[in-house]
Amino acid sequence: MMSAVIEFVVPLAYFLAAVMLIYGLKAMSSPVTARRGIVLSGWAMAVAVAVTFAHPKVSDHYGLMLLAIGTGGLAAWVSARRVAMTDMPQMIALYNGMGGGAAAAIAAVELLKLISGEVVLDTVTIVLAVLGGIIGAVAFSGSLIAFAKLQGWIKKAWRFGGQHVINTAVFAAVLGLGIYLMVAPASPAVLAAFFGLALVLGVLMTIPIGGADMPVVISLYNALTGLAVGFEGYVLQNPAMMIAGIVVGAAGSLLTQLMARSMNRSLANVLFAGFGQAEEETQGGALTGEIKSIDATDAGIQLAYAEKVIIVPGYGLAVAQAQHKIWELCELLAQRGVKVSFAIHPVAGRMPGHMNVLLAEAGVPYDMIHDLEDINAQFPTTDVALVIGANDVVNPAARKDTSSPIYGMPILDVDKAKNCIVVKRGQGTGFSGIENLLFFEDNTRMLYGDAQKVAQQLIADVKALG
Ligand code: NDP
Repeated sequence: MMSAVIEFVVPLAYFLAAVMLIYGLKAMSSPVTARRGIVLSGWAMAVAVAVTFAHPKVSDHYGLMLLAIGTGGLAAWVSARRVAMTDMPQMIALYNGMGGGAAAAIAAVELLKLISGEVVLDTVTIVLAVLGGIIGAVAFSGSLIAFAKLQGWIKKAWRFGGQHVINTAVFAAVLGLGIYLMVAPASPAVLAAFFGLALVLGVLMTIPIGGADMPVVISLYNALTGLAVGFEGYVLQNPAMMIAGIVVGAAGSLLTQLMARSMNRSLANVLFAGFGQAEEETQGGALTGEIKSIDATDAGIQLAYAEKVIIVPGYGLAVAQAQHKIWELCELLAQRGVKVSFAIHPVAGRMPGHMNVLLAEAGVPYDMIHDLEDINAQFPTTDVALVIGANDVVNPAARKDTSSPIYGMPILDVDKAKNCIVVKRGQGTGFSGIENLLFFEDNTRMLYGDAQKVAQQLIADVKALG
């Protein structure tokens, strides 16, 4: 009787968890429902983990399971509470790598059991175990390198002659060993070589890629982790893992495409062309004109007497945590009859949705926030484009300089506004390390200072105008 209940309850709970996860992901697609989506997905994971304890196969391992949950849960809790918003991509890379590593570990255990004759697996299961093993191991080591790069532990994109040949050879060797594992009675040594080389492949694939491309790479590894988890879910015959893995794989693939498109890059170009070296190179584009500055009082007057202002937030806003002050400034301007909106570039900041999260935190209504494609046509009729801590995403080199590494990337056309005020601390370049043609435009004025302090000054200056 008990086992019949378990046979019924366990799959039902897994199914419920999968449905909750799908709804959670759906809810995350809008800022209005995103928080609910995250909570729902969290509960889905909790249900999936809890119900696993009722699974008949695990009754001998409760101690180990609790130890793993305790250790992982504590590490995640502490790190997630401590991490600064600007370091979020690193954390995602790390967590994502853990997912890939877990999938590879499942593959290793199942294949080891197969080698020792402990289990007999059908062909499809073996193939998926091997494929999931490769993908999971690559996502694991690749994500760790991505983490180290974003954390600043690895500063250079390492490139050397014959790199593509070596990578292809390692890939072929991993594939060869994988096929050997599928068709012949292998030994633990072959299995170890297989996983060892797959880990090396992840490292080799990631080290030549520059920091500017890391978000796309992390998103790709996220998709791969999902795929690996889905495959290993099949190996374990666990429907929640299968569905969650496939959903994450699909969502990650779409996000990867969207990000690559926002940078006007193909995925192959991101992975193999070494674009990210822009951050270590200087750009030789045509810089004409001179940089002109403005003080906060004059900027405040321009803003206060404008009819239409568009604010473009970027990474510097996040660093300065200036979102609350900027919103206060907007409210002041709106009281004076100025029409204010926010323009968000898809890769502004350091993670997708970074700016949306900050603005939501400050209480900016969603209908004031516009995506690039919705707002770009409005810049020519805008009196002041106020760029706050953004750089790469407003660099007209993407439109004007065919030699620029970011040429072709869609940007927010702030240079087309009647006036453009750029708030930043000094002459620092953006994430891609290239000069910004915007700063040399006739209609651009630089307002130097920390974004939060400048916002504070602007508030005081606008207030002083009565
Ligand atoms: P950028 O990184 O291009 O530029 C940020 C600017 O902010 C810098 O030029 C810096 O200039 C300024 N800044 C830094 N701190 C402050 C501060 N306290 N107050 C005022 N200004 C400050 O930012 P963008 O948002 O324009 O572009 C994002 C870049 O990051 C793109 O290249 C994108 O590809 C990349 N990226 C995006 C990710 C994503 O998913 N969104 C993830 C990882 C990278 P100064 O030093 O002079 O103050």
